[in-house]
Amino acid sequence: MDNNLKSKTYDELIELAAACGQKAFTAKYLFTFIHQKDAADIQDITPLSKAFRQKLTDDGYTISGIELLEKHDDPDGTIKFVFELADSARIEAVRLKDGKRNTLCISTQAGCRMGCKFCATGQLKFQRNLTAAEIVDQLYQVEKYCGKIHNVVYMGMGEPLDNFDNVMASVSILNDENGRNIGIRHITLSTCGLPQQIRQLSTSPLQPRLAISLHAPNDTIRKEIMRVAAKHSLHDLMTALKSYQSVTNKRITMEYCMIDTINDQVHHAKELIRLLRPLKVNVNLIELNPFAGCPYATSSNNQIRRFAQTLTDAGIETVIRFKRGQTIKAACGQLGATWLKDKE
Ligand code: SAH
Ligand code: SF4
Repeated sequence: MDNNLKSKTYDELIELAAACGQKAFTAKYLFTFIHQKDAADIQDITPLSKAFRQKLTDDGYTISGIELLEKHDDPDGTIKFVFELADSARIEAVRLKDGKRNTLCISTQAGCRMGCKFCATGQLKFQRNLTAAEIVDQLYQVEKYCGKIHNVVYMGMGEPLDNFDNVMASVSILNDENGRNIGIRHITLSTCGLPQQIRQLSTSPLQPRLAISLHAPNDTIRKEIMRVAAKHSLHDLMTALKSYQSVTNKRITMEYCMIDTINDQVHHAKELIRLLRPLKVNVNLIELNPFAGCPYATSSNNQIRRFAQTLTDAGIETVIRFKRGQTIKAACGQLGATWLKDKE
């Protein structure tokens, strides 16, 4: 059981307070002190009675966070933060700046089980799921250096939907008006596409934005570059997405990493247009970011533009995402890349 109070949603704290014979407002003190005032110790929540604070401690509850190990600045304004967890596992988070707005890319697992061939994190050994506290604390630690975070993208290390409950608890905590109060439309979950969890998400009371790491217009290519495609076909994924959209009516972002000759030809774009026709989507074309041992090369700028134009001409809203945070290995798919180099 996760005894860290920082992992508990507001509703869970209400239940906990009630189980201890406390009034509901004590839960509000607990939540605001932990998630707004960054209390690091139960004893610091002074509006609670001494007896209740002692009971929580006696019952084994704590408030703990993650430790900042390193901070790397890229000349383009991107900052990468390296954190150590209580069991020495390491994770990374990345702050991106868009004008005055801060976006934070956070991790959900130490390593990743999905093993996509083009992703550095996928080459690391999977260690474990992060707790909700370890997920939200990335934001609290980064805010100490960068000020308010406006947007959160679950696009760091790990597969968010493979850690569904803790990820959704963290979304609830970040969104809560008694905590950081980050608008749900400013929170994006990115997934390699797990159909069952996508269905589960569609009926969740919280509806963050959804991004799908598609990366291929057909199963043959997808299977070659993403292990998850052997388990879940594009047909299954598209069926789950149609059902998600019929329930939520929300637009879905499709992420498509441009890999030289593998998936970047005009005939691939045409196949992609046919695949996406039944859905309301926009497409982000991402330049492939290299890492040591990556078996693929980045598409040329011309190839990326040609691909984008083909999609745009078919009426699909398409944006090209060029590399950011290159010098510090903070770009998409590079998290954990420096540890891979250490391994060699
Ligand atoms: N596991 C989730 C979220 C983390 S990956 C997912 O796969 O969606 C965040 C994004 O970076 C995904 O779209 C992923 O496919 C992409 N990505 C992974 N490796 C990359 C690389 N080497 N270059 C560019 N993008 C990459
Ligand atoms: Fe995991 Fe996402 Fe990387 Fe695939 S792209 S290995 S799902 S983090």
